[in-house]
Amino acid sequence: MASIPANEPSFRQSVELMFNRAAALMDLSPGLEEKIRVCNSTYVVRFGVKLRGEIKTFTGYRSVHSEHMEPVKGGIRYAPNVNQDEVEALASLMTFKCALVEAPFGGSKGGLCIDPREWDEDELDRITRRFAYELIKRDLINPSQNVPAPDMGTGEREMAVIADQYARMNTTDINAKACVTGKPIHAGGIQGRIEATGRGVQYALREFFRHPEDIKAANLSGDLEGKRIIVQGLGNVGYHAALFLRDEDGAKITHVIERDGAVHNDQGLDIEALRAHIVATGGVRDFKGGTFIEDGASALEAECDILIPAALEGVINLSNAARIKAPLIIEAANGPITAGADDVLREKGVVIIPDLYANAGGVTVSYFEWVKNLSHIRFGRMQRRQEESRHELIVNELERLSRDTGIGWTLSPDFKQKYLRGAGELELVRSGLDDTMRTAYQAMREVWHDRHDVPDLRMAGFLVSIARVAASYRAKGL
Ligand code: GLU
Repeated sequence: MASIPANEPSFRQSVELMFNRAAALMDLSPGLEEKIRVCNSTYVVRFGVKLRGEIKTFTGYRSVHSEHMEPVKGGIRYAPNVNQDEVEALASLMTFKCALVEAPFGGSKGGLCIDPREWDEDELDRITRRFAYELIKRDLINPSQNVPAPDMGTGEREMAVIADQYARMNTTDINAKACVTGKPIHAGGIQGRIEATGRGVQYALREFFRHPEDIKAANLSGDLEGKRIIVQGLGNVGYHAALFLRDEDGAKITHVIERDGAVHNDQGLDIEALRAHIVATGGVRDFKGGTFIEDGASALEAECDILIPAALEGVINLSNAARIKAPLIIEAANGPITAGADDVLREKGVVIIPDLYANAGGVTVSYFEWVKNLSHIRFGRMQRRQEESRHELIVNELERLSRDTGIGWTLSPDFKQKYLRGAGELELVRSGLDDTMRTAYQAMREVWHDRHDVPDLRMAGFLVSIARVAASYRAKGL
């Protein structure tokens, strides 16, 4: 997109460079390496919608990077400068992301060149419906072949329209709801999907801070408590990550960077109030709870412990990488660091928790939603009360023993309340996500520490993922 300087490789080339760096350390046959690198197909569609008295033509994309597993999975982005290069880069990241978190999908991504802020909700619904129609009739949206999800500029509303359009065109498909994820709950969605990517960033950081060796590699100490964090982009991902890290882990969000500038407060920003201000005014200017910084990009270079780029690709590039002071960067966005900047930061000893892992929380919970749709039952529906009654048995027995033996123990009401409550869908989703983020991080860090030729987590993540994709192709005899 526009933020990648013209003298640097494009987003797609950047991802390829990162892939190549990892592939060079593997003994893949050249044919297989090429097969995994390239994007299988990109469909470009131009369609017209009658709006405001005239026909408006829109350009949309759906790119499929790898079909080693089907369906392929990945979001649909609405942004004015969506282009083929970007969609292909994002589709390939989806392949490696899914492989790393063991979501059984190939990689795909879609995009529509549109500024969603220029259209009202009804108009957007009509545009989305038409785009969905074009993709559905070519099986580029299909529960067993290609399952989109939200991305930048899209959310539950668009996903509900896509699901409805698919159901209209496939009236006898009992699994129709599984054709898209990120739907609202009343349209077959799952609890915890909206917060999932931000929650995944939080779980990723928690896992990072469980490993003293890794904390040391980033020149940090302790845990998340009191850590100073810069968040770039307070959209769905940045907002939830910032909120959870502040409220549940005691971190301080000292800077938030948005379209119109940045806002700064050494004591930590009130994230909910700031989000409400952004929604109401369109930016961070005039926010009472902090100092406004006109040159937003300069705040990326401020002193901090953790930097969370959570918006566009290419925001950390050769023009600013050398001045970044954060010792730890976690890529909540896709591709926020260009390949050139990645080299500069590595030289400086900055630890980067890479996008293919860091923002995989979204697709992980999408996977749970897809499974829920195919099984036609909400998670926890069968077990919850049974679990509660077994816990009640134990609590009652403990209280009886305490009484009968005269020990006089009393269980604290807080413990009883927490212990007696069986897990509902949200708790189960969070538990599944937490487990996924821990396991994937451990797979990556093992490679990072065990192999002397692997300098960073990104290369380790690519090595783990490429090996899994290769194994899957080999098993098919390809
Ligand atoms: N758009 C998100 C991503 O980039 C989610 C994809 C999905 O849930 O399929 O990972």
